[in-house]
Amino acid sequence: MEAFFATQNEPAYRARQILQWVHQYGVTDFNVMSNLGKSLRQKLSELTECPLLTPIIDKTASDGTRKWLLRLNDGNCIETVFIPETSRGTLCVSSQVGCMLNCTFCSTATQGFSRNLSVAEIIGQVFFAVRALSAENGRHDRTITNVVMMGMGEPLLNFDNVVSAMSLMMEDLAYGLAKRRVTLSTSGVVPEMHRLAQVSEVSLAVSLHAPNDELRDQLVPINKKYPLAELMAACKQHFPADSKRKVTFEYVMLKDVNDSPALAKQLVRLLEGVPAKLNLIPFNPFPKTHYVCSDEETILRFKDIVSRSGIQTTVRKTRGEDIDGACGQLVGDFKDRTRRKERFLREKISIQVED
Ligand code: SAH
Repeated sequence: MEAFFATQNEPAYRARQILQWVHQYGVTDFNVMSNLGKSLRQKLSELTECPLLTPIIDKTASDGTRKWLLRLNDGNCIETVFIPETSRGTLCVSSQVGCMLNCTFCSTATQGFSRNLSVAEIIGQVFFAVRALSAENGRHDRTITNVVMMGMGEPLLNFDNVVSAMSLMMEDLAYGLAKRRVTLSTSGVVPEMHRLAQVSEVSLAVSLHAPNDELRDQLVPINKKYPLAELMAACKQHFPADSKRKVTFEYVMLKDVNDSPALAKQLVRLLEGVPAKLNLIPFNPFPKTHYVCSDEETILRFKDIVSRSGIQTTVRKTRGEDIDGACGQLVGDFKDRTRRKERFLREKISIQVED
């Protein structure tokens, strides 16, 4: 933004003024920005825009989880989810419209891929959620303390925009989140993981889901391109050795697919020497999936085997189940509804014609 103002023969501090207006005060109308001269305000209105996201669906689950379907200016829709907990509030942010990775247990994959989100559309989800939540009578549990790039899309395949948006999340003049509280989750795009380590200090989560290549090839097809040996090597060197930071490995629990004690033991061997934490995710079912979530007992047995090896292991609490838990489902429902409505209108018209 400083570079932009330089091209306009304006001082660099204009960039800081705009950041504060937009992200801290929520003002997107240049005419209200009182510390900018009138001609600059005019110029900004002509040269730039603050595209906002429009809520299409807004659902709150019985556990307080809030899920929005947001419409972009081109009519595409994305999902953003807020998960309140006693000591923190996590916003789950999307990076792409759809996804091209085809993980077999993921609802977003069923939509295919449309396009990357712009920086404005990624940070716009934070902008939107902050405003929507603070409108709720200033309740303390309505604050965003963490952001996870775990919504729709593969963030590392939209590298530049995601990195810029995450910088804004951590920028003091915008949202001021600590680097440990912003997490990028990847299915394992290894070259981009190396790049990320060079330019950003955010926390890293890796969607592992299987401890051997044969099984991971089936669940997370990008494994065929970047197999486990390469992925684990990238994870080992991601954070500086003296930083004590760990990579979080996500492992979705699929009944009779990846949840046996033998695979838990294989996982322990795979993670040997990697600074790792493990997060077991109960599978969130969605229409037409053939997967089933592992039983609670199986999950706890799996957790036990891994944590006994010294790896910190948690089981993710399933949140927002009663509002279409799995990410990507709202978009699916919305498209179905639109299609049904179109079909209804078409049929109505043809009936009228026949009449
Ligand atoms: N593409 C990125 C981020 C989006 S998915 C990635 O793969 O990491 C965020 C997390 O949710 C991933 O760990 C993903 O594997 C997991 N996930 C996807 N579908 C799921 C489902 N139906 N139930 C539970 N977890 C799921």
